Amino acid sequence: MRVLLVLFSLLLPLSLSTAQAADKLAVVTSFSILADMTRQVGGDHVQITSLVGADEDAHTYEPTPDDAKALLRARLIIKNGLGFEPWLDRLVASTATPAVVITASRGVIPRTLEEDGEHIPDPHAWHNLANSELYVHNITRALVAADPVHRDDYERNGQAYLERIYQLLAEAKAKFGALPAGNRKIVTSHDAFGYLGQAYGIEFLAPQGLSTEREPSAAEVAALITQIRNAGVKAVFMENIKDARLLKQIADESGAHIGGTLYSDALSASGPASTFTGLFEYNLNTLYDALGRP
Ligand code: ZN
Repeated sequence: MRVLLVLFSLLLPLSLSTAQAADKLAVVTSFSILADMTRQVGGDHVQITSLVGADEDAHTYEPTPDDAKALLRARLIIKNGLGFEPWLDRLVASTATPAVVITASRGVIPRTLEEDGEHIPDPHAWHNLANSELYVHNITRALVAADPVHRDDYERNGQAYLERIYQLLAEAKAKFGALPAGNRKIVTSHDAFGYLGQAYGIEFLAPQGLSTEREPSAAEVAALITQIRNAGVKAVFMENIKDARLLKQIADESGAHIGGTLYSDALSASGPASTFTGLFEYNLNTLYDALGRP
């Protein structure tokens, strides 16, 4: 009897923690920014698996067998949409997961660009905070629908998170609004900041297009260097998801100043850009320092 009791007391904490994990809503997000937004709204009620991790490039991501297993365990899958993660659509189809798939960017008015004769949507909508607000609404609605028992918590967390985003929006308006008119041209590795540029009147140039998949040709890099020289571009920025060599070469040959690193398509593993609002604030201050200089 005593042996049984000891055994029972040993097993009890284990079975409780397993039960708690099983109670949580299993959510898969395609990349780190959506994982953080979902964590902010979902709090302790969600168990999140993010397929593309911090500092990783979602454009060129190749799913693993573990990703397929995560989709099969999930009750909710949250993707960006706007053509950002075509590999996820293929994985959802091939696994035939019963999970609900939602698009966080739903409702965003897409910026479209012509690339190789085709009009394609710009997927990087999160860099405009007015769009991030839509993301938070869509994620909150999806969590409530998947787990209505915790509706009040999701709505309260979502509202608190939106307040933080509104504060950041006011800070961005004040800082970008205070930048000198005139030269507001900068260069990044790929064309990830179009929505930010559109919202605040900053012109972003890049050797690579909307996706990082295609490497630029020598002629395209040379044309950009000429453009940087002629336009008097203020600064060239590296990106956390990209090898910096090409950008350093462009800075060297054009004589442009390197303004630092911007966080484009992923959070950082640690430090100030390890949450989405931290990422936005870091980029805001880095751009402000580069463009505000006389
Ligand atoms: Zn990108």
